[in-house]
Amino acid sequence: TERTFIAIKPDGVQRGLIGPILTRFEQRGFKLVALKLTWANEGLLRQHYEDLQEKPFFPSLLSYMLSGPVLATVWEGKDVVKQGRVILGATNPLASAPGTIRGDFAIDMGRNVIHGSDSVETANREIGLWFKNEELV
Ligand code: ATP
Ligand code: MG
Repeated sequence: TERTFIAIKPDGVQRGLIGPILTRFEQRGFKLVALKLTWANEGLLRQHYEDLQEKPFFPSLLSYMLSGPVLATVWEGKDVVKQGRVILGATNPLASAPGTIRGDFAIDMGRNVIHGSDSVETANREIGLWFKNEELV
């Protein structure tokens, strides 16, 4: 079955949004297969955001992601990669609909509460970066 990597970013953890966010994925029927609270290091984040390293916002993205612990999770289920992106809502706050996580909890593109893999290939790469095999149930 398909799996995706979802991470609650430091602002989401700090604001107490872990419970409401996990609830949305559970309610939709997805299965939690891994979860850990972890403070990422720069090396991991550079690998995670490999394709964004040249972007002008990359330094601020890096310091944002290093500003506190992240809740790293893996979810399993039918079309979970695409469905996860739907549950998250659009990156641009002007396009993230109410009812989505970003649409309900974020107004700033640079502090947008949550990350979700954008393809099955990316998901497998990210799961391998953030988790050891034995941490997946
Ligand atoms: P994520 O990968 O976090 O799920 P995404 O796939 O919607 O988000 P990406 O293009 O992968 O968006 O960008 C990764 C993250 O970089 C965004 O979630 C956001 O925190 C930050 N980011 C993206 N674009 C900008 C921007 N123009 N200005 C500031 N931060 C940005
Ligand atoms: Mg992305």
